[in-house]
Amino acid sequence: MFVFKAAVVGAGTMGGEIAQTIAAAEIPVVLKDIDQKFVDTGLDKAREVTKGQLARLVKKEKLTQEQADEQLEAVMGRITGTTDYSDFGDVDFVIEAAPEKMEIKQAVFSELDAVTPGHAILASNTSSLSIAEMADATLRPHKVVGFHFFYPASVMPLVEIVAGVTDEETIEAAVNFAQTIRKQPIVCEEVPGFVVNRILNSAVGEIWRAQEEQGLSIKQIDEAVGAQNVAPMGPFFLVDLLGLDTVYHVAAHLNESYGDSFYVHQGMKKLVEEGKLGAKSGGSGFYENGEPQIPGDGEPNGEELAEMMSLKALVEACLVLEEGVSTVREIDLGMMAGAGMDPTRGIFPPFMKADGTGLDTVLEKLESAEEKHGERFAPPVTIKRLVAQGRLGQKAGHGFYAYPQADEGDQTETVKLETRGNVAIAWLANGMMNAVSPQVVKDLGAVWEKVKSSGEIGAMVIASANPLVFSAGADIKAFTQMDEAGGEELIHSGHALLRDLGQSRVSTIAAVNSLAFGGGCEVSMACDFRIAAESAIFGQPEIKLGIIPGFGGTQRLPRLVGPNKALEMNLMGDAITAHSALDHGLVNRVVPDHELFDTALSWAKKLAGQAPLAVEEIKKVSHKGDLDEGIEAEKQGFADAFATADAKEGISAFLGKRKANWKGE
Ligand code: NAD
Repeated sequence: MFVFKAAVVGAGTMGGEIAQTIAAAEIPVVLKDIDQKFVDTGLDKAREVTKGQLARLVKKEKLTQEQADEQLEAVMGRITGTTDYSDFGDVDFVIEAAPEKMEIKQAVFSELDAVTPGHAILASNTSSLSIAEMADATLRPHKVVGFHFFYPASVMPLVEIVAGVTDEETIEAAVNFAQTIRKQPIVCEEVPGFVVNRILNSAVGEIWRAQEEQGLSIKQIDEAVGAQNVAPMGPFFLVDLLGLDTVYHVAAHLNESYGDSFYVHQGMKKLVEEGKLGAKSGGSGFYENGEPQIPGDGEPNGEELAEMMSLKALVEACLVLEEGVSTVREIDLGMMAGAGMDPTRGIFPPFMKADGTGLDTVLEKLESAEEKHGERFAPPVTIKRLVAQGRLGQKAGHGFYAYPQADEGDQTETVKLETRGNVAIAWLANGMMNAVSPQVVKDLGAVWEKVKSSGEIGAMVIASANPLVFSAGADIKAFTQMDEAGGEELIHSGHALLRDLGQSRVSTIAAVNSLAFGGGCEVSMACDFRIAAESAIFGQPEIKLGIIPGFGGTQRLPRLVGPNKALEMNLMGDAITAHSALDHGLVNRVVPDHELFDTALSWAKKLAGQAPLAVEEIKKVSHKGDLDEGIEAEKQGFADAFATADAKEGISAFLGKRKANWKGE
């Protein structure tokens, strides 16, 4: 499913900005509301947001004013405002952003079912309602999905993709569409509050509760909590910005759904009843002209409040995980991209924070919080289990995530070697994107030689030291900076290394924890086995740059998934989910994110115990055939494609974040 044209239904607070986000990613979009004046408000919002974005680029001297003016008109030209469905006959993806009432949603979905093509995906931006119930109003329930943006949609990077009775193909298309419009998707099941609002409200509820029960000063709470590195700003101040009504309704809904573990601030309820909604109602909310409007002058203990908030966030995150709603990585990513938790500012999402603190310490803290405050702080099973396994977090090399514990002595720059008995782990450790750079190829080669020559190691796991990315692909910039001879040498040595991984008596397993694109996907395919975390995604997007896979993607992929699916992946360039990778034979197992490393290690242990010579022979003969020939052909094809004007154009468009203009030269 590909999106050539999208539509947004409802041009209110969210709709106008959602349409803008889609149009800014160069996809035409229809924006519909029930009255022209609402459509106009949405269009004005889209124009204002685009103007702001372009003005920032002009200020940074990335665009001239003239180019910015042109782009503004181009973006706005892609948005068609309307009050009827006449432009919906050729849309591929619709996002409903109408008021939060099931009758309205169901009416809209039933209308959409009749006016859009049968292949179109019908999505809802709902914050709290059931996707499955909306799907009931259509004849295509499996193509109905939640697509939940955060306010303001043009700024907040997160989209929660919520599965109702949605099929895998629709989820995959929604993930790809979110990436196309430059958003960070996380996938979750349908539960009240989904992932981010649920965890956030559970945690911040402890602040509301403490404020009301202890009569604390909201101003001092905002200052104290703001200074504690648990949230991007003070909670009362933040609610004034978001709108008290919006926050109150979500809190009340979660309290109804989950009970008193979710606290509803009674002062907030009263302010909402009085129409004091914060910034959107002219400024009066928790504060008016900087003065608190809620009684209480008690002095808060910032450290204690921050700790309660963090512990409660962790408990809720564990429940979300244990209920199978989402995965470790996606929950943390959601809190980063949707709740402003930014590790680079020292604000860590729940699982990363727990791993950093130490899970034994966290368990003790939870036990005493439970004693003091009741069962809403009861330690979750997952934490007890990880502690029982000795998986105490960063200090132990493994908690919710796995961490390198590199061997003593010399280590290469970008790949760290860890040895555990007869098993080795090669940790890819090349920064944010874990790109496969020339240095990584060299370092992985050096680590591999060490492993092979040890004489004792029978299996090697390739894992990522980055909890959020396995490898985003080749380091395009570094590759373009190499001269011809250097480039050729790199391709040859890279191929020799990858070929050896699949032929040696040392068995190789890729533990793919998350995104494995391009060169990253190719490194994983060169291993004997691939174990994927549930939240992993795979793709060969080289075609988007006008080049072709260069490390075996045109050869190993068809051998794993069959020529048909491989051609689709290589020619479309779109990503596939871990579950779909399993269906197609790209991976051997899919396991929960937090079980990935243990599973890969256990495969490695088993393989390391097998007869080495037999392993080598089996590996060699299993892949007999024309692979070497195929690789030679790919080398030539890659060199030819790389030398074209289209490749130059594709790479420069990618680096310049613009659409490429292909000439076929
Ligand atoms: P809003 O009230 O600002 O806008 C809704 C718009 O839908 C209005 O312009 C209204 O005229 C229009 N509308 C009503 N019936 C319609 C119909 N039948 N067809 C087309 N348009 C119709 O609401 P909003 O804040 O933009 O919220 C929209 C959705 O987004 C809700 O489901 C909400 O839960 C969700 N959401 C809101 C926020 C937020 O912070 N506001 C954040 C995330 C998600």
